[in-house]
Amino acid sequence: MLLGLRVEHRGEYWWAARLLVMGVLLAALPVPGIAASALQEGGEASAYNGVLHRAALIIDDVGETLHNGRRAVDLPGEVTIAVLPHTPYGRELAERAQQRGREVMLHLPMEAKNRANPGPGAVLLDMDEEEVRAAVRAALADVPHVRGVNNHMGSLVTRHPGHMQWVMEELAAAGDLYFIDSRTSARTVAQRIAAEQRLKNSARAYFLDPVRDGEVIDLQIQQFIAAAQREEGVIAIGHPYPETLERLERILPKLAQKGIELVPASALVDYPPKDPVEEMEP
Ligand SMILES: [Zn+2]
Repeated sequence: MLLGLRVEHRGEYWWAARLLVMGVLLAALPVPGIAASALQEGGEASAYNGVLHRAALIIDDVGETLHNGRRAVDLPGEVTIAVLPHTPYGRELAERAQQRGREVMLHLPMEAKNRANPGPGAVLLDMDEEEVRAAVRAALADVPHVRGVNNHMGSLVTRHPGHMQWVMEELAAAGDLYFIDSRTSARTVAQRIAAEQRLKNSARAYFLDPVRDGEVIDLQIQQFIAAAQREEGVIAIGHPYPETLERLERILPKLAQKGIELVPASALVDYPPKDPVEEMEP
């Protein structure tokens, strides 16, 4: 239907026809403001019915590099910033995020199946209960302004109920924190045990950049947007790679036109994932 608007001016009746088509469109769309922006954007808003769905985008792995970390905090949209503990710039970037009104999470390192180094302060499988609890407390103490926690790596440790029990008990004892399962293993029990400890919780539905490849990132962003247009509460995770950041700088200001309201992760912790998601990270 919108194709008619792109036809070149070919006759004296064009303007009359154009006004007629616009009138029909404006009458058919429920929100006049959205209808106007839909016409400017070539009909992009036609993918949804005028209702804004809330979605969250967590940028994690923040803290190792200053430039990309700042760029993530300064993204033009309500992203949530998940900071690695015991990193060179973690505290500084958490402070910057707080000052700019961005929600801060602790990105808690946990051991992966491939035994890759998860970084300082990680929860490891061969730790005993006291060591796990101490690691969680130290990580929480290292990052200021933390409202919630997600796991960094962890495809090994998040499958172990005992370790997850100790982690979630410490998070529950620390106060009003939520937990979001990054779902690096299809066999993770982290979200279930967080729920048992009465932590507010949800899980990642999409990784925006499972590999640092522009075409893959474009596709993942499209899938996140399509899912968020279909349903409320979709959560994606991206990383502070230049390839990801440059795309988000362009796309985030247009999300509202696409029917998506970006909100802090804390606003969506009562929305568990509806679809099973695959294992995608260490
Ligand atoms: Zn991570």
